[in-house]
Amino acid sequence: MAQNIDTRIVVLGGGPGGYAAAFLAADLGMPTTLIDAAPKPGGTCLHVGCIPSKALLHAAQVIHAAHDAAAFGITFGEPKIDLAALRAKKESIIGMHNSHLMDVTKKRGITHVVGRGAFIDGSTIQVENGPKVRFQTAVVATGSVPAKLPTFEIGSKKIWDSTSALELETVPKTLLVVGGGYIGLEMGSVYAALGSKVTVVELTPGLLPGVDPDLVRPLQAKLKTQFTSILLNTKVTKVEDVKDGVKVTFEGELAEKEQVFERVLVAVGRRPATANLGLDKADVKVDAKGFIGTDEQRRTSNANIFAIGDVAGEPMLAHKASHEGKLAVQVINGEPMVWDPRAIPAVVFTDPEIAWAGLMENEAKKQGREVKTAKFHWAASGRATTLGRTDGVTKLVVDPKTDLLLGVGLCGPGAGELVSEAVVALEMGATAKDIAMSIHPHPTLTETISEAAEMLHGLSSHIYVRKPKVL
Ligand code: NAD
Repeated sequence: MAQNIDTRIVVLGGGPGGYAAAFLAADLGMPTTLIDAAPKPGGTCLHVGCIPSKALLHAAQVIHAAHDAAAFGITFGEPKIDLAALRAKKESIIGMHNSHLMDVTKKRGITHVVGRGAFIDGSTIQVENGPKVRFQTAVVATGSVPAKLPTFEIGSKKIWDSTSALELETVPKTLLVVGGGYIGLEMGSVYAALGSKVTVVELTPGLLPGVDPDLVRPLQAKLKTQFTSILLNTKVTKVEDVKDGVKVTFEGELAEKEQVFERVLVAVGRRPATANLGLDKADVKVDAKGFIGTDEQRRTSNANIFAIGDVAGEPMLAHKASHEGKLAVQVINGEPMVWDPRAIPAVVFTDPEIAWAGLMENEAKKQGREVKTAKFHWAASGRATTLGRTDGVTKLVVDPKTDLLLGVGLCGPGAGELVSEAVVALEMGATAKDIAMSIHPHPTLTETISEAAEMLHGLSSHIYVRKPKVL
């Protein structure tokens, strides 16, 4: 029988939100307990999300770079893919982070409990086949799980979710990706690069619904060359396990209503992991979608229990979870903090990447807010031409009256790295003029941000903006 634990703070869930919270709590001197069902911390992001998918996307990028080198007079043969070696590399990357996280958990003196935990009252978590953990304060950071659609629940191993797609069991000859969102496009890109003929089916009229169309356009054009087909405004109405794969029936404006795919990846969103947590026993309220309701300090309806990360609402992004985790711990530590970010960056790690931070034009329109925008096309960037990547775009959104920067979006290779400049500028309350007047190194893709800022004042060196004649 495991010995019961009394702790100042318990964190339930060891993903990037949970472990960031637990580490800070321990660093601030609080006796801390971290509970996670998996043997090692890291959560979805490390084990079956961000990290393995980015490792595979790197492999995809290498394949593309080798192919694109032909434009520079360098040719390689067809890539030979050793799937076992690729899988092993991915696992070794996860393993490296696992060892590090285990090490720093131990060094911080955190009590690490492996097992599924559930509240049995407002101050106790019972761990399955493990101890009872009595706490003064708890942070719920249990994350999210892939959303399921009844149509696909036919018990077939040929139907994947993001976790099974990351296992790299096989490179199917044909892959249907259901959902043109983050996961669908990232994993679709991986399998397309590895050699699968990929079809994407998306319910709405466009890929990445909600993302500014000016950013999606260059990606969609490139994906048309990587994927066999992109079916928009289309629904899957039936799937059937057949000898050669999965027979799929579509509803939409397509010629072929039925097609067979070797594998089907369902990536239609994620839902908060709040089931079987005993939240009701702890008086923690969840909304209709299953998210735990919190105030601006991430406190739930039980004042001693906080919730952070995917389980506490959109956007479901690891970096948002880590920041919320640290905020909750600072609040628990008595600091007068609230959740008030000006920008939470988002990145889609496709080729080209899409990244944005702050308010984009599509969102401003929805809010009925007047904005001024500038688009700098990468064809005018020296650095982009040297990379053979003139397909990108950088877009700035500013307040027309004050010139205050409201949002920045980028589509192009490295957009995910470039967006951090925007985040700092937004948090610091920069104007477009501030950005234009900050010297950006040449030749780099960062200049696309400063030139877009210059465009707002009609002064970009590489884009000619016609001005009225002065008589
Ligand atoms: P998503 O919300 O990004 O995309 C789901 C897509 O599926 C949407 O385009 C939606 O219109 C479509 N869809 C829904 N029902 C459908 C149906 N029946 N048929 C066809 N299409 C349908 O969700 P996701 O791609 O599953 O990712 C889940 C979450 O994980 C994301 O919201 C994101 O927060 C996170 N994530 C982030 C990253 C990243 O930061 N790079 C990567 C992967 C996942």
